[in-house]
Amino acid sequence: AAPPAPRAIAKLPEAVVNRIAAGEIIQRPSNALKELIENSLDAGATTIRVTVKEGGLKLLQIQDNGSGIRKSDLPILCERFTTSKIKAFEDLSSLGTYGFRGEALASISHVAHLSVTTKTRDETCAWKAAYADGALIPLKPGGDAAPLPCAGNDGTVEDLFYNTPQRLRSLRPANEEYARILSVVTAYSIHNAGVSFVCKKTSSSSSSTGDVNTSIGASTLDNIGVLYGEAVRRELVEVQAVSEELGVKVRAWCSGANYQAKRSTFLFFINHRYVDCTSLKRALEAFYSTLLAKNTHPFVYLSLSISPSKIDVNVHPTKKEVAFEDEDEVVQLVCEKLAEVLEKQGESRSYKVQT
Ligand code: ADP
Ligand code: MG
Repeated sequence: AAPPAPRAIAKLPEAVVNRIAAGEIIQRPSNALKELIENSLDAGATTIRVTVKEGGLKLLQIQDNGSGIRKSDLPILCERFTTSKIKAFEDLSSLGTYGFRGEALASISHVAHLSVTTKTRDETCAWKAAYADGALIPLKPGGDAAPLPCAGNDGTVEDLFYNTPQRLRSLRPANEEYARILSVVTAYSIHNAGVSFVCKKTSSSSSSTGDVNTSIGASTLDNIGVLYGEAVRRELVEVQAVSEELGVKVRAWCSGANYQAKRSTFLFFINHRYVDCTSLKRALEAFYSTLLAKNTHPFVYLSLSISPSKIDVNVHPTKKEVAFEDEDEVVQLVCEKLAEVLEKQGESRSYKVQT
């Protein structure tokens, strides 16, 4: 058969482009939350409180005590590609923040209604603004779209309402979305020990202390104890490794032979990003399979710092799986160090690292 006649190419309307782009970054409330937590950390917050209604579908609120946002920046806050974190492409090679794309708040405003209340130390009052589809909208129907003065503490409070949840992808029941939210908060609170994280549901008076509740100044181990239980904490050993040659630094807390869980817990951070790393996971699973009884599994929290030149920082925000240079050698280094530490600790046998 003859090929079909070509169809005309036309430029998509901007609103459609924005909504498609937003949907790729923010697929569910926990994706939005990750971006908001990263913004709070970038703003130097020491307390971050997350409040959730119906799995984040009705309301997701995040409150921090960070730098706040200047009032004059509020009009462009939710525009695409507006950021305070880099000025030139070269800045990426020495990036010290989670964010740099200026896309998160824009994306969120395309899938949800967002309101922001913020106060910098220099302001005498807080300012409140509401956003939809990248732009300021009136806080009250029929009102002016300009930010309004209000009472508030130093820092930033963001409220997300999904009044059009059909803009999100493949949503699960509220309790499953809440479980994803909790796992994001848990991972970030362990990796950012010292910063206080609280996460709770609005409705539940029973959990008024929060399902996650870590203290300012707490250590990594304190937080693992609080979040995973003292029984886990007791069995952990610290593993540290540095290789100039590979340009890596590893710090990890790993369970030993006495810890036998029904499921593995792997918390991997690479250059402070919460990631999946299949090679690391496989190698650790293989290592522990020689150590633990059948069908029992380890706990590993591992933070890897790699020189930025060896890893692509410019990956898509939702891309959780990462790759980096000399991956096999780095994975080998981690397993060897872990074996060494466990051996020194005097546990029953000598450990074989599989290669
Ligand atoms: P990015 O983090 O990539 O810069 P975002 O869209 O996440 O982009 O945020 C845009 C800008 O808004 C940030 O660069 C920052 O200046 C400001 N901002 C966002 N959230 C906060 C916050 N919680 N505290 C202070 N400033 C914030
Ligand atoms: Mg950001």
